[in-house]
Amino acid sequence: MKWRLFGFITTATLFGSVAIIPQETEHHAHWAYEGKDGPNKWATIDPAYSECKVGHHQSPIDIRHTEKAGLPPIQFDYSPTPLKIVDNGHTVMVNYAPGSFITVGDHQYQLTQFHFHHPSEEHIHGKGFDMVIHMVHSDASGNLAVVAVLLKAGKVNSALQIMWDHLPKEKNKVGAVEGVLINAADFLPVNRGYYTFVGSLTTPPCTEPVTWFVLKTPEEISSGEVEVFARLYPHDTRPTQRLEGRVIRESK
Ligand SMILES: [Zn+2]
Repeated sequence: MKWRLFGFITTATLFGSVAIIPQETEHHAHWAYEGKDGPNKWATIDPAYSECKVGHHQSPIDIRHTEKAGLPPIQFDYSPTPLKIVDNGHTVMVNYAPGSFITVGDHQYQLTQFHFHHPSEEHIHGKGFDMVIHMVHSDASGNLAVVAVLLKAGKVNSALQIMWDHLPKEKNKVGAVEGVLINAADFLPVNRGYYTFVGSLTTPPCTEPVTWFVLKTPEEISSGEVEVFARLYPHDTRPTQRLEGRVIRESK
């Protein structure tokens, strides 16, 4: 998961009036997936990252013991969005225009962005997958919910290929791709049964709580498509974290 701060830059025009342009910027303290700034060191890089170490509901996890429950279905109301894709130095992320939602029971969250991890961060019964898509949502109060779509090597995923055809050549530059629309609904499996639990962001600052919905059915992606991402990001995956008494519920 990516955490973004909302900053503002001001620009003076020729006539002296000032326009405020909201701009998304990455958190500045550097972190990485290996080496001296790797996952075991995140909490010491910046005090703002302390939850990566002291948190009790950290993500990702290995999903092993679950409680089957009569959970409401996730209702997906995703609309097409103009493709805005950025390589932020940790992953490839697609920013989503307002107006796409999930509803679970009486709780509604808006889709803000999705991004990729290779290999998957989530494990099921100890097994990882080739990749995962994290679809990041926020409700009106700023509570976060992430839908994870696991990807396993198989047939070509034509919806993903559209993004792979437009991968940014530079880092940290949001590229709006003229005339290309994508729809996050195209990445969802037909069967949308899920696991749910309380977790965190899987990248600094590892904020808790985040409500996770991990779809049980993986989608397919060709091994060639996995390779394209792996060349950019061979391993953008945080190790699985302790469960610490959390209950994982599973829809029937
Ligand atoms: Zn993620």
